[in-house]
Amino acid sequence: MSDKTYLQWPFFDDGHRRLAEDVEAWAREQITDHHGEVDAACRELVAKLGRAGWLRYVVGGTDYGGAHHGIDTRAVCLLREILARHSGLADFAFAMQGLGSGAITLHGTEAQKKRYLTRVANGEAIAAFALSEPESGSDVAAMTCTARASDDEYVLDGEKTWISNGGIADFYVVFARTGEAPGARGISAFVVDAGMQGFEIVERIEVIAPHPLARIRFTNCRLPKACLLGTPGQGFKVAMQTLDIFRTSVAAAALGFARHAVDEALSRATTRPLFNKTLADFQITQVKIAEMATGVDTSALLTYRAAWLRDQGQNVTREAAMAKMTSTETAQRVIDSAVQIWGGCGVVSGHPVEKLYREIRALRIYEGATEVQQLIIAKQTLAEFQHL
Ligand SMILES: Cc1cc2nc3c(=O)[nH]c(=O)nc-3n(C[C@H](O)[C@H](O)[C@H](O)COP(=O)(O)OP(=O)(O)OC[C@H]3O[C@@H](n4cnc5c(N)ncnc54)[C@H](O)[C@@H]3O)c2cc1C
Repeated sequence: MSDKTYLQWPFFDDGHRRLAEDVEAWAREQITDHHGEVDAACRELVAKLGRAGWLRYVVGGTDYGGAHHGIDTRAVCLLREILARHSGLADFAFAMQGLGSGAITLHGTEAQKKRYLTRVANGEAIAAFALSEPESGSDVAAMTCTARASDDEYVLDGEKTWISNGGIADFYVVFARTGEAPGARGISAFVVDAGMQGFEIVERIEVIAPHPLARIRFTNCRLPKACLLGTPGQGFKVAMQTLDIFRTSVAAAALGFARHAVDEALSRATTRPLFNKTLADFQITQVKIAEMATGVDTSALLTYRAAWLRDQGQNVTREAAMAKMTSTETAQRVIDSAVQIWGGCGVVSGHPVEKLYREIRALRIYEGATEVQQLIIAKQTLAEFQHL
């Protein structure tokens, strides 16, 4: 919705308000509908976002090109919300630079930060995050990809799938089993350059809202020990800490899609003549509008609460889960209502609400499906009750 009054909420400071205005002005001028090949469009968007300085916000550390010492979650969320309102692919290009380099910001050595973060921040290197496997999506601890330690290297073997930016990324943060303990406590994180011997793109995956996506394979891929990210056996924690930041930002992207859908719905409902009135004159339409507007505000409140809490240094695992679950599920309903309000036009290929309808769907699945968020919320809520 073009209403910007939410920026006056106490979650934000004046720096955030200025940032939101600047990004909005930039996006209006610079983001155009992409046509044709998605890899090229994505590469171009990363370069453009880098030149404009927006990618500095997904990198922590001013010595490495970051906008701040750490990652300002509210800034990342505002950027994603605004970019998503203009273009799903622009939001994707922005978000993946953060998800793919977040573990380096959080746990990288000085050398790793120098080597990767500055290039991520200026849009010269494309990042990817490789956690999921064909048999291990929601159940991350079931992963089978291994990294065997020898004297001076790790040898990586196994497959990762659904890897966003797979095929165009310059490096991948990869999680693999190193076996210090069973399950989640035996996983480590690595940073792997594209083009390493033993690394291949096995399959490009086409999805309903096109973006670069691939299944990748490691076969006897030998990594110098310096590629280890953080401590051996702590990879699960590294992945979850990265997701704690970016899950909230998925909520922000869904919010941006929902706001766009409300704009589209309102413009149609107030101008479409039918039965000697306009669509918006009917109370059944008004119920939809009321539900859409309330859904958008609910999502915004939960999203920016989680972002603000994280920026205060608090643990936000539950709040990020609440934001992601609510915002993505709400956006799906809001977009569906917008399609309904547009009638037949709403399902025509290329129509803005048809594109939103395809764009929102994966957000309810990736970075933890809604059901996984429900488990997280319930687990923490029950634990707090049992400790009372
Ligand atoms: C477009 C897209 C981009 C992606 N990008 C990346 C990426 O960049 N990097 C990466 O590592 N991964 C990525 N993923 C993978 C994504 O994180 C996984 O798809 C997701 O975690 C779900 O795993 P899965 O597909 O194996 O589904 P499964 O784990 O098989 O789950 C299937 C369904 O079961 C339900 N479910 C799950 N757990 C429970 C439960 N406990 N109780 C009841 N129901 C449950 C949920 O509805 C879930 O959707 C991406 C996925 C998509 C679709």
